[in-house]
Amino acid sequence: PPKMRQWFLEQGYIVEGEGYMNTPKDKFLESLYETTDKRVEVSLKLMDEVEWDFFFLVLTGSDRLQHYMWRDMTEGEGEYKNAIKDFYIGLDQHLGDLMEKAGENTTVFVVSDHGFTNQDKRVHINHFLIKKGYMKLEGGFENMKKMWMLRVSAFLKQTGLSNLIIKVMRGTGGKPGDVKPPQIEVDYAESQAFTCGYYTGGIYLDNKLDPNTYLKVQSELVEAIKKELRDPDTGELIAEKVYTKQELYEGDQLSLSPDIIIIPKDGYWITGGISYPSLIEPTTKETGRHHIEGIWAVKGGGTKEGETVNAEIIDIAPTILKLFGLESDMDGRPIDAFKK
Ligand SMILES: [Zn+2]
Repeated sequence: PPKMRQWFLEQGYIVEGEGYMNTPKDKFLESLYETTDKRVEVSLKLMDEVEWDFFFLVLTGSDRLQHYMWRDMTEGEGEYKNAIKDFYIGLDQHLGDLMEKAGENTTVFVVSDHGFTNQDKRVHINHFLIKKGYMKLEGGFENMKKMWMLRVSAFLKQTGLSNLIIKVMRGTGGKPGDVKPPQIEVDYAESQAFTCGYYTGGIYLDNKLDPNTYLKVQSELVEAIKKELRDPDTGELIAEKVYTKQELYEGDQLSLSPDIIIIPKDGYWITGGISYPSLIEPTTKETGRHHIEGIWAVKGGGTKEGETVNAEIIDIAPTILKLFGLESDMDGRPIDAFKK
């Protein structure tokens, strides 16, 4: 509500801190703590302002931090070795304050929407689709020229020469952002498959394929990814699991799902886009990425204390609804975590 927006602004609430990709680590951490502390402070206040049935708070800091400093934690003994651990200790203290404010009679859920793992290499999957003939680029001299420019700029990056060029540009008043990678054009009319977006892993097939051809292309491509999508540096297969959308999803929105979903092995991240010089790109700035397994925990409300219960994220909402005595027809099932 607009009234609430005003209230949040008055409290000095920060929607999002400094981004992790282009902020120096010390500045990033400062902003991360400020944003998180403020969010909890405002939440504690808000808990007093209203008589709550259900209170929901999202803390995004651990996500941003792990994207940025995963490698600091796993490699070497640098200044930021314990940054992630220290942040979690701080979150734990915040959680204690929030639970104290909520009171003993409140059931508290702690849920992550994903886990984390290392990201050593990005996999520009469209290069694989091109190699296998599922995706075609626009022909012609312009596209060829762009592809060569990409390879040259990748070489400059590898050799550190691009930093020099950026410094020279700064000296002449130009910004590094002025150096845009050339955009390669896809021939969509001649392509059967493509991947788009940055946080992805999903491949879309041409929606004009007839049903039989669709299933044939889908199953052939799944097999190709399972058997042939390899890291050229090591020969290792990249996919941990490959699914068709029919295996994972159902319902009347099924057509919106990617047609093939790849879960990569730890260390790899699948990305869309086409303007990259090669299939594999080692990561430098962003060294952590989402993992499909997260955590959940619950306290209060007659929980079976000390038990470990496996659940999926889609089970959380039906579980909470059930605590309110509400039935639902949504996906997922109430978790059996409470004494009868
Ligand atoms: Zn994230």
